Amino acid sequence: MNAPTKPPHSGPARADADASGADLHSPVIDWFDDHARDLPWRHPEAGAWGVMVSEFMLQQTPVSRVLPVYEQWLARWPRPADLAADAPGEAVRAWGRLGYPRRALRLHGAAVAITERHGGDVPSDHAQLLALPGIGEYTAAAVASFAYGQRHAVLDTNVRRVFARAVTGVQYPPNATTAAERRLARALLPDDEPTAARWAAASMELGALVCTAKNETCVRCPIAAQCAWRLAGKPEHDGPPRRGQTYAGTDRQVRGKLLAVLREAHAPVQQSALDRVWHEPVQRARALDGLVADGLVEPLPGGLYRLPL
Ligand code: SF4
Repeated sequence: MNAPTKPPHSGPARADADASGADLHSPVIDWFDDHARDLPWRHPEAGAWGVMVSEFMLQQTPVSRVLPVYEQWLARWPRPADLAADAPGEAVRAWGRLGYPRRALRLHGAAVAITERHGGDVPSDHAQLLALPGIGEYTAAAVASFAYGQRHAVLDTNVRRVFARAVTGVQYPPNATTAAERRLARALLPDDEPTAARWAAASMELGALVCTAKNETCVRCPIAAQCAWRLAGKPEHDGPPRRGQTYAGTDRQVRGKLLAVLREAHAPVQQSALDRVWHEPVQRARALDGLVADGLVEPLPGGLYRLPL
């Protein structure tokens, strides 16, 4: 184990530690073996499609809210072709209250492309995954790593926070992922594929369960002895203000209320039914226009609206 020799408060403290992160791999992976949550998308029978669905849902939504929707989704659409054969509006309806419903449309679009281009099987090749509509760098890497055991840097908010603290020695990562973080994540990847895939899942779980955004529990952390931020005395965040997650009163809340009406109706609804969900007409119209522009809602003649067919 390479104990950092820098004194506290001397800034990033792992410069003298093993830059490859080799001293972090075993403790984090061993901890994961003992503490990983038993989640359905981690079972082998989930397959690549189950992993892909979970990754779409888990972006910006906690596990507890994802679990029931995930189970229903996979029961209804066990393969990409099943979802592709249904209307995109059905995906939006089944998305329920997971939030950020454009993800439902993107997942539907990916299912269509998988069916058309790949015979209905989620591709294992990273470039082919990345070429699917609605799949970005993160999801492609997550599916390739978690479903196919490949070696990719999988950088979600949890992993970024763990690396920021344990390696860089700061409390929080930047608001948006930087090239330096990507370089660091690649440098920290174990060399062999199975270990790299395990490391990706393990470091993510550590951020979700132990190295949380607030009230991190360092006493339960397997890398507390090496953690640069802890060893530096946990200096307070001095970067730009962190983005808040306000919801009440935002257009996002209004969009959620409008969509809830359309999800529950199984026939087109009148504008007046939508008008009842929010008191402020300008914001309400803006939210509805946004939903139409995003393809989540279809306007019909006669002031009617429905989910897209
Ligand atoms: S010691 Fe604390 S701050 Fe450092 S990685 Fe572990 S939980 Fe996070």
